[in-house]
Amino acid sequence: MRRITFLVYAALWIMLISLNLYQQVRDTKQYAQNIATRQAEMFFDHIVLVRKWNASHGGVYVPITENTSPNPYLDVPDRDVETTDGKRLTLINPAYMTRQLAEMNDGQSVIVFHLTGFKSIRPENKPDLWESKALLAFQKGEKSVSEIGNLNGQSYYRYMAPLKVEQACLSCHEKQGYKVGDVRGGISVAIPTASIDAFINERLEHLTITHGIVAFIGLLVLLLSYLAQARLSQRLNKAQSRLQLAYLDSLTLLPNRRYYDAFVKREWKRALRHQYPISMIMIDIDFFKLYNDNLGHIEGDHCLRQVAKTLKRFFRRPGDLIARYGGEEFCVVAACDAEQIMVLAEILRTAVESMRLPHPASKVSEFVTISLGAATIVPGDDQAFERLLHSADQALYDAKASGRNRVCKYRP
Ligand code: GH3
Ligand code: MG
Ligand code: MG
Repeated sequence: MRRITFLVYAALWIMLISLNLYQQVRDTKQYAQNIATRQAEMFFDHIVLVRKWNASHGGVYVPITENTSPNPYLDVPDRDVETTDGKRLTLINPAYMTRQLAEMNDGQSVIVFHLTGFKSIRPENKPDLWESKALLAFQKGEKSVSEIGNLNGQSYYRYMAPLKVEQACLSCHEKQGYKVGDVRGGISVAIPTASIDAFINERLEHLTITHGIVAFIGLLVLLLSYLAQARLSQRLNKAQSRLQLAYLDSLTLLPNRRYYDAFVKREWKRALRHQYPISMIMIDIDFFKLYNDNLGHIEGDHCLRQVAKTLKRFFRRPGDLIARYGGEEFCVVAACDAEQIMVLAEILRTAVESMRLPHPASKVSEFVTISLGAATIVPGDDQAFERLLHSADQALYDAKASGRNRVCKYRP
């Protein structure tokens, strides 16, 4: 794993955990809102139940006291009556009762409720902006409305449901043109978000901590495996470079004789199995001793490196190889036939000649040149391998003997 891969994985992991946390926090907040809505619904149902009880009796008479004066908005005969023993009673309709309940509730409970309607007779019953929107929604058929909103500068879960006109309501409201089934108002219930947030926050804290722990453990595992792998690949690299040194010629950076031998054996077996030809070229720099004698060993080394670099360019196929055989000799093995190897050999010869490396003592050219001997064989038995090597060497000898700076093919 490279460092960038590790960083990408770590970032992905953090993203995954964050996404999960975000989702869970959102769900929890939604859950809190659902609880608040359900609580408000139940509160609303209770009030409606009490109102129904009141309406089913056509209102209820209660004694007129300091707190309960006659309802000035209630326009019915016998609103106020007197008992035979002189007690004064007044009729309490559902609306008045709800208002009294709301006033009693004020300060007693954190839950606030408000009876309201479009045509409220009493000014205090007028809807606020949110309630007006809810009432409009009820007229369009909405069953209830719930939302988080502000009330007197405090955050509340707000809930509102409609009150439908029932037969019992008409005794007071018929004059206002009410009909059974009409939505004329509603009761809004508000629960402070703080009252539910207290225990929701506890869960959110728990979620954050567990996600933090999981994220940390994941990162730790990722980091440990990254470090372990980094150590392993460091060791592997060391071993690889040791191995490379063992098989590489340090002067030319070409594969050395040891590598060449192993490679040829492998290629030989493959050619034997599939019965295809295998070819070899022995290469030798012409008059290299004289080159050294004239220009010195350092220049000689430089020349070897230059020649190696030039030859190497032509070996990219996996079945072909060029190696330093020893001294100023190189050898090539290639999975090709006699014709192809001659073409390759000629390309190599031309490439070296074209370098135009001055050779002041050569007897065949002003520049450094090479002689090449090529041989091809279709492997038959193990002995043939030695024969191929010998044949290429023989061909090289011929190239030297016949004037150097040339390619010779082995002729039995
Ligand atoms: P020929 O054309 O017949 O091949 O003649 P030659 O002089 O090239 O052949 P010979 O075998 O007589 O000489 C090879 C020389 O290569 C001798 C040696 O000093 C030189 N040589 C071998 N290895 C190295 C090396 O690593 N660095 C340098 N500078 N010279 C080397
Ligand atoms: Mg030689
Ligand atoms: Mg030579």
